[in-house]
Amino acid sequence: MYFNSFSNREHPSDISLVESSCCVCLEPFVHFTLADFSLFVIIVSKSIGQNESQSGRQGCEMIIRCWGARGSIPVSGEEYLKYGGDTPCIEIRTKNDEIIIVDAGSGIRRLGNSLLHEKRFSYTMIFTHSHWDHIMGFPFFKPIYNRKAAINIIDCPMAQGSLKKLLANVMSPPHFPVKFEDITADIRYHGACREGAVIDTVKVTSIPLSHPNMGLGYRFEEDGKSFVFLTDNELTYRHPGGLDYGRYAAFSKGTDFLIHDSEYNEKEYTYTKSWGHSVYTDALKLALEAGVKRFGLYHHNQDRSDEGLDEIVAHCRGIIAGEKSDLECFAVTQDFELIL
Ligand SMILES: [Zn+2]
Ligand SMILES: [Zn+2]
Repeated sequence: MYFNSFSNREHPSDISLVESSCCVCLEPFVHFTLADFSLFVIIVSKSIGQNESQSGRQGCEMIIRCWGARGSIPVSGEEYLKYGGDTPCIEIRTKNDEIIIVDAGSGIRRLGNSLLHEKRFSYTMIFTHSHWDHIMGFPFFKPIYNRKAAINIIDCPMAQGSLKKLLANVMSPPHFPVKFEDITADIRYHGACREGAVIDTVKVTSIPLSHPNMGLGYRFEEDGKSFVFLTDNELTYRHPGGLDYGRYAAFSKGTDFLIHDSEYNEKEYTYTKSWGHSVYTDALKLALEAGVKRFGLYHHNQDRSDEGLDEIVAHCRGIIAGEKSDLECFAVTQDFELIL
């Protein structure tokens, strides 16, 4: 495992540029339940040989990349240079180099440019929820206007309707000049994400978030390694459809890497309670109690400067030292990469 953070990731130069023929297929697998969380499984697979020719990563570990870590609204300015201003978008590469994209915040624009540069055209997309900051980048994800692109979207039936309908609304008049019908990529929607999925070699388990208008958190597992992504989750306030603290602790238990919403400090929370986000010390408590190995603070408040985030990280590390824990803690940047 190692961390990597690098600038100009949109144009990596060390990746083989062999075109994909986009032969993704989906087929039913098995159906079972996992304790508190219902789990539905599908397989997204394609030929191994094609993967080998694409990047030479055959047999590598799972890679987790962040393309946006800011919450609610994109920000820019010199006070945000370290952690970045783009809203949520996470990329996961399976050990076979299949691509999973979680959320389409403004960060997905840079990811799309990078994927086209890499000549990768097949992806699976999954969403946590339909709030604006998590879908606003979809019309700016250039692969959707590329006929070579084949995108499987796991269509979670959100509280406000199907994901397809929600994405179409983002591109409907008078909000956007390009019509949803003008998308040229081959996009296929697959339901039942609430119950989980298997994407290539990664098992995906979901959990309802405690968040206004609901949403889903995910646990991604491959070869005994795991990554838990819980953004837009309010640990100390139970929204309709949400669960209590203990369920999120159980869901995160022992994971190699937890990203959790850490938007507020205690003072801010006195007037933001019930807005759907957590105090960073509550998220840290969850990470400590769940015995995770690494904890990434995420969904940074739009007014939180780099300096402010550094102070939060220092405070968290002080708490961790006081607990005599070896938990690694950091704030996720929008150019973050972790290889498990
Ligand atoms: Zn959000
Ligand atoms: Zn939200």
